[in-house]
Amino acid sequence: MRTAPDRTLERLGAQLEYALSRSPHYRQAWGAHRGRVLDDLADLRTLPFTTADAVDAAGPLGLTAVGHGRIARYAESRDTRGRVLGAAATAADLGRASAAMEEALRPHVRPDDLAFVAVPYELSGGAHDTDRALGALGAGVVGVGALSAVCPPERAIALMALLHPSVLVATPDRAVGTHHRLGAAGHDPRSVGLRAQLYVGGACAPAKTARVGALWGTSTAWAYGSTLTPAAGLPCALGTAHLTDTLYHAEVVDPDGQDPVPDGRPGELVLTTLAAEATPLLRFRTGDLVRLGGCGCGDPRPALEQHGRVEDRWSSPTGRALTAVELEQAALSVPGTGLYCVTGAVGGRPTARIDTAAPDVRQEVAEALRRLTGVVWQVDTADRRAFLDATERAGRRRIGLRDLEAV
Ligand SMILES: [Zn+2]
Repeated sequence: MRTAPDRTLERLGAQLEYALSRSPHYRQAWGAHRGRVLDDLADLRTLPFTTADAVDAAGPLGLTAVGHGRIARYAESRDTRGRVLGAAATAADLGRASAAMEEALRPHVRPDDLAFVAVPYELSGGAHDTDRALGALGAGVVGVGALSAVCPPERAIALMALLHPSVLVATPDRAVGTHHRLGAAGHDPRSVGLRAQLYVGGACAPAKTARVGALWGTSTAWAYGSTLTPAAGLPCALGTAHLTDTLYHAEVVDPDGQDPVPDGRPGELVLTTLAAEATPLLRFRTGDLVRLGGCGCGDPRPALEQHGRVEDRWSSPTGRALTAVELEQAALSVPGTGLYCVTGAVGGRPTARIDTAAPDVRQEVAEALRRLTGVVWQVDTADRRAFLDATERAGRRRIGLRDLEAV
C-alpha cells in the first residue's frame, strides 16, 4: 500500500519533471537540475528556491507551462514590495482549487446564505475562487470587493444594512472596520444577522480572531492562499486553516536562511505545487510566516497558523526575532485588552501601542511582552479610531507605529 508521503513524493517528482521541461522560467534557470530524481522528501532541499524576485522578473507568463489556448485565467497581485506575482491557470487547475474550497466551506456555508465577499476582485484570483465555491454550495454572493472606488466602504455597509448577509469574507481588520462603520452610520451591526466570517489575508493572533468573532457574534474560519498559490490552506469544520496537501507540499524554513525551522516554530512557508498544469511552482518562498501545528478536529493535515509577513518580524536588541503575531498574541491574551496591539521601536525602545487605556492593563501587557522577549517594553495607548484609520490607509500592509502617528 502506498503511504501519503509516497504519494507526495511521486507527485513532487512528476511536478519537477513537468516544470523543468515545460515552464520557460524553470527550463532556463533550473537547467542544471534536469533529470533529477527525488529519492525522498528531504531530497527536495537540494534544489534551489523560487523567489518572488524570480517570479517578478520572469514576467506574466514566464512560468506558464501550457500554451495560450489552454489558459482559463490569468491573475496577478503585487506583494508588499511591489513585485508582480502573476499566475495562469487551466480549467482543470481552477476546478481543483474550487473543488477543494467547496469541500472546505461546506460546514460553514448553507444554501440559504447570502455572502458578502469583501476582498479584491481586480486581477487577483482569490475573490473569484471564493465566489465560485460559495455559488457551488448554493449560497448567494455580493461581490463588494475591497479598495475599489466603485464600491467604497460606505456603500458596502449601506448594502449590508439593506441586504442582511449571513456570511462575510474579509480580513479581520476589514470586519472590525465594517462593524465600526455600521455603528457610526446608526445601524446595529448585530441586526445585520451575520452568522459566519471567513478570513482571507490579514493574519492576526488567535486572541484577536476570537475577539472579532465575538464582536459580531459569529463563527470564524481561516483560509490561506495567494494569486500564485490559490487554496493552499482551507478551513476545517473548526475553522482552522489546514494545508491543502493534495495540491501543495509545504516546507517551513528560516526566513533569513535556507534550513528548516525546528518543529513547532514559525518560519517562512515554502510551497511546491503537486498538481499544477499552468503554473508549476518549485520551492516558492511565499514571504509569509506560518507555524505548522495540530488541530482539535483530528484532521491529520498540518494546521497553518499564519504569522504575517517576513518583513513584519520584530528583532529584539538581543537579536532574537519574533513574529508580529506572536507579540500580538502575548499582548491580547491579557484580559482587558482590545482588538489591537502594534509593536515596534520608538527612539530605540521596544514599544507597543494598544487600544485600551486602563493603566493596570498596560502594565500587564508590558509584563507579558517582557516574559516573551526578555526585554523591557514601553506600552501606550491610542484611540481605536486611530487604528481603524491607519489600517485603512495601509491597505494590505500591516500597520506599524508610524502609521498611527500619520495624520
Ligand atoms: Zn482542524
